[in-house]
Amino acid sequence: MAILEFNDVTFTYPADPDAPKDAPASRPVLSHLNLQIEKGSFVAVLGHNGSGKSTLAKLSNGILFPQSGQVIVDGTPLTQDEDVVYNARRKVGMVFQNPDNQFVSTIVGEDVAFGLENYGVPEDEIPARVAAALAAVDMAGYENRATHTLSGGQKQRVALAGVLALSPDILVFDEATAMLDPDGRQEVLRTICRLHTQQHKTVVMITHYIEEAIGADRVYLIHNGKMIADGTAREMLTQPELLAAAGLTPPMPVQMYYDLKQAGIVLARCPLTLEELAEELCRSQ
Ligand code: ADP
Repeated sequence: MAILEFNDVTFTYPADPDAPKDAPASRPVLSHLNLQIEKGSFVAVLGHNGSGKSTLAKLSNGILFPQSGQVIVDGTPLTQDEDVVYNARRKVGMVFQNPDNQFVSTIVGEDVAFGLENYGVPEDEIPARVAAALAAVDMAGYENRATHTLSGGQKQRVALAGVLALSPDILVFDEATAMLDPDGRQEVLRTICRLHTQQHKTVVMITHYIEEAIGADRVYLIHNGKMIADGTAREMLTQPELLAAAGLTPPMPVQMYYDLKQAGIVLARCPLTLEELAEELCRSQ
């Protein structure tokens, strides 16, 4: 069953009121976009900068609304009706690129509690929900820490805890690892995988890092506001020409497979991960 659908969605940003009168009319940033995300799945939306990924994220929980087509969250078409938006935002939790921009308090526990207070969760339930959300992102006991003392990865996990506290079914990550160092990225990616496998959250990874799509159940390639292809991670990530059409380069093991092929060494299958590459190289000895 699809928990998040985009049906023929087209979106154009309003024209800049300060633009000269003879400036060309705004063009759609997303055109006739279709997306069907199954409940409990892990989906990656891959595209280079400017392809429309953030816009897609913002359309998925009513931060933006399409001019035509429909976004459907758990069976309910997303309209600008206040109650509809309220429910969509509880179902679809969003984590953005910069954790500092997502904090509303300088203290971890208060920050995670903010959404719960806003959504009218009874006060006596809040400490336990904050503690559970922090534990789910490996930040148990950090309630009283100042957010500015945390590493990038810890900050992003606290931002994620704030989202998780509201128990959304769907987690949308919009370039959520892009500002982190390699350790921070790994921490956040591990946390996301755990939330998917253990808490059965539907995960939508919106990213330009091709490696982040390797474990996905389904990969969508977006280019210039259009979905140009979708399929399994293996189908999408082992075709250099298709990736090039989306302005992306293949994962290193895939590139290696084609380089070796050109040099006359043909591996039995195209590896997606370093482990698979090592296996294929050993096998070809
Ligand atoms: P991505 O997340 O893939 O980098 P975006 O969705 O942020 O892509 O942007 C897609 C296009 O929309 C870009 O050309 C960008 O300049 C334009 N855009 C993004 N936000 C706005 C805005 N608020 N007003 C006008 N144009 C915008």
